[in-house]
Amino acid sequence: MQYRIIVQFAELALKGKNRHRFIKRLRKNIKDRLKSLNHEWPVKAIHDRIYVNLPNDDSIDELTAKQAVQELARLPGIAWLSFVYWLSEQKYQFLSSQPDLAVIHDLIKRLANDKYKSGLSFAVRVKRRDKQFSMTSQKFEQQIATTILQHSDWQKVNLSQPDQCFYVDIASDGVSVHCDKTLGIGGLPVGSTGQVLTLLSGGFDSPVAAWLMAKRGCQTDFIHFTASHHPLDGIEQDKIVRTAQIVSESSGFVRLYMVPYTYFDMALLELDLDYDLILFRRFMARVASALMPSVEAQALVTGDNLGQVASQTMENMESMNKSTDAMILRPLLSYNKQEIIALSTDLGLFEVGREPHKDCCALISKNPRTTSRSYVLHNLEKAHLSNYQELIDETLADAIELTFYFGQLVNKKKMDNQSHEHA
Ligand code: ATP
Ligand code: MG
Repeated sequence: MQYRIIVQFAELALKGKNRHRFIKRLRKNIKDRLKSLNHEWPVKAIHDRIYVNLPNDDSIDELTAKQAVQELARLPGIAWLSFVYWLSEQKYQFLSSQPDLAVIHDLIKRLANDKYKSGLSFAVRVKRRDKQFSMTSQKFEQQIATTILQHSDWQKVNLSQPDQCFYVDIASDGVSVHCDKTLGIGGLPVGSTGQVLTLLSGGFDSPVAAWLMAKRGCQTDFIHFTASHHPLDGIEQDKIVRTAQIVSESSGFVRLYMVPYTYFDMALLELDLDYDLILFRRFMARVASALMPSVEAQALVTGDNLGQVASQTMENMESMNKSTDAMILRPLLSYNKQEIIALSTDLGLFEVGREPHKDCCALISKNPRTTSRSYVLHNLEKAHLSNYQELIDETLADAIELTFYFGQLVNKKKMDNQSHEHA
């Protein structure tokens, strides 16, 4: 038996040049993901669909193919995908004047028996893409339904809301038969809309924010500020590293910059400032902005959520915005906490998110300011952080860079302090 995977592109309303570009990108992402799983399978885009042609030999079993479908389902940009049995026109001649359709009926009998569940209803959907096929879709649907009713325990047909569908697609190069549509996550293929740098912290919110941007087609890198220097040895165990790794499982290429904020900490040491949280936010925004050109990021992303904690006020977000020219995106701003936790759970990020984050900021005051006047912040920065550019440079020079590719940590190194430019 020969297998294929059919992928239906999401956002079908897209028109014009974008559409072609998005399909091309999705095809590439599918190819790359399969390659990362050691599957060098041809991937073709035809109209609104992408077809993965599995090799026609014994090296591939159904289980391997179905596992690949589950992995692909996590890629943004897919409405649904399905594992299909492929019967080639060359071999079976379905488009001839006297086609022998027994092979299709036999396959349907097997699938109907495999899928049978007591009390449920079914429907058959035939699509005739090649009108040379001798029967109308409706007639062939009836024939197949009769086969199912006669050769399995299925008894109830429901054409409008069936519990189980059996699909037969007739094209000029062959016939696909399938019955397991897996829903994708929709959105747009990663890499099709832009590049962002996400400020990643130890909580639930920022990884979900990064994933939402990935779902809208952005490739994301991460920057995380740590209280102390991390040795490269054993860094794989770090909570932040595992979080970035999980996001990369569905978004592909991801870099994580771990940046110690020791110099900032030292500058404010001994000062009892209740503005330290907002000063820290402004510091993070400036350091992240300085990194943007070297990672080609077009915007920063945070997990800010309006009103969630005392510091997440409009005023504090504005103070952060004012510290940099970079655009700061906050995809979770209007979400409820339950919605964020539900997403985090779906994405497999919840368990790692709830682990205690040992690296919490010693410098952050218990009662952060909820408002902050620009001139007060300017004056504080002038007084205590007078050489800001030097602070940024020193901070970035201490960074380490980790690179992930579809869930694998593929590189870790100390950052070359020549490789970033000034903001
Ligand atoms: P999260 O759940 O993402 O930790 P939070 O609800 O705890 O967010 P804050 O700690 O106020 O909120 O942080 C708001 C946002 O600022 C985070 O979502 C993240 O984008 C960024 N941020 C906070 N701390 C750090 C850090 N140490 N390194 C990088 N980014 C950070
Ligand atoms: Mg946090």
